[in-house]
Amino acid sequence: MSNIFYQSTRESSKKVLSSEAIVRGICEDGGLFVPDILPKLDKKLDELKSMNYRELAFYVMSKFFTDFKEEELKDCINKAYDDKFDTSVIAPLVKKGDASFLELFHGPTIAFKDMALSILPHLLKTAARNLNINKEIVILTATSGDTGKAALEGFTNVDGVKIIVFFPQDGVSEIQKMQMVTQKGENTFVVGVKGNFDDCQTGVKNIFSDKEYNKKLDDNNIVFSSANSINIGRLVPQIVYYFYSYIQMCNSNEINVGDSINFVVPTGNFGNILAAYYAKKMGLPINKLICASNENNVLYDFINTGVYDKRRELKLTISPSMDILVSSNLERLLVSLNDGNREQIKNMMDSLTSKGIYEITDEMKKGLISFYGGYSTEQETHDTIKNVFEQENYLLDTHTAVAYSVYEKYKDATNDVTKTVVVSTASPFKFTRSVMTSIDAKYDEFTDFELVEKMAELSKVRIPAAIKDINKREIKHGRICEVDEMKSVVADIINVSI
Ligand SMILES: *Cc1c(COP(=O)(O)O)cnc(C)c1O
Repeated sequence: MSNIFYQSTRESSKKVLSSEAIVRGICEDGGLFVPDILPKLDKKLDELKSMNYRELAFYVMSKFFTDFKEEELKDCINKAYDDKFDTSVIAPLVKKGDASFLELFHGPTIAFKDMALSILPHLLKTAARNLNINKEIVILTATSGDTGKAALEGFTNVDGVKIIVFFPQDGVSEIQKMQMVTQKGENTFVVGVKGNFDDCQTGVKNIFSDKEYNKKLDDNNIVFSSANSINIGRLVPQIVYYFYSYIQMCNSNEINVGDSINFVVPTGNFGNILAAYYAKKMGLPINKLICASNENNVLYDFINTGVYDKRRELKLTISPSMDILVSSNLERLLVSLNDGNREQIKNMMDSLTSKGIYEITDEMKKGLISFYGGYSTEQETHDTIKNVFEQENYLLDTHTAVAYSVYEKYKDATNDVTKTVVVSTASPFKFTRSVMTSIDAKYDEFTDFELVEKMAELSKVRIPAAIKDINKREIKHGRICEVDEMKSVVADIINVSI
């Protein structure tokens, strides 16, 4: 099999293999690594139908990580998708009403980021070994809530790796915060930032692109890497469950092999839905990719107009993991839309940085036909949770509710009856207050932790181990900093002065 190479979205002179792309995380020029070609499905869909999650994961990932040996990749997959997940199916598909919900929240932190972050540490270690890197790896991550905990879980006690997580101090749920600040492991560091998610993300990007500091780290035998969704080692594992849900749709006779389906994806940084787009490009029969936003509806505007305009206030919503104004992974879509014209993309990204806005060309807009963009207001999201619970006795988390709300709008607008999978990205137990008060305002008087119990009673679903008694766990991380102190905090933790 021939190798897949990875290149920056902003210039194409350098090509690297997957190991290097995974270790580096982001390109030196600030661009993101993209595969030079998207591998095509070379088995019939019928042949995939009997595969379990791990087998399918190997089939899909081996097409991208071509410099990993078969045994190495299988080992990574086996270590990731094991009994950390509370179901051997890993990603079950649950039919409710006229949609099928792809539940991606059965991992250790009960949100979909576990799908990628349970394997990334193993990919990273293997990649570093392949490159003969004997340095200490320091993972720097900005999180809007879910990534941070999932990364901490993934990297805890992995030898030769430290992980530092920055989260917006007032931008995550109580339970999310507790999940992070109670994290065990000598190699884990969690820092609250007095700013929003975009501040955290920009701060981390600035540290990555600080050449002088990176040189200094090099002298100290340390290298930075990222666990954010910009890492190709996170993106690729997310492609797997699009194939897997398709197979499950076939196996349960919802569809015939070869039929097209829609996916509705609650979107923030555009990583999850980009993985779906890659699956489509690889040959999975997908009709529409429905991109669901909350009131931070930059992507809704972009898909409908071709103009990306971040010049607006960030709103804090009940779906905080989607409170994002700059969707980093969109840059990768642009490469697919303009046949890899790097200079054009660099100009657009420069414009986004300097002016806060860019517009894609008419030619590129045509490529957006694969997508439908919609958004859900806060009230609509609350109503969706209540309605779905009353009709189906099924509790949606706030992010999944955004997706379902947009799906209903989509059906009204298009009359499309194509079978549809709603990507369910978090357990409702992660956002108890918002979910329970959507059902009934009376729940507002309880603490988030009391609401965990109430939710279990109401939904008759057992409390996930990930958050059981979380309020009784010992707090291990109390550090808080200003946005402009992030760099010095890192310097302090890794003991290399700025
Ligand atoms: C991260 C996250 C999202 C957004 O996914 P992107 O890949 O950033 O678009 C949606 N829902 C939940 C629960 C998340 O944690």
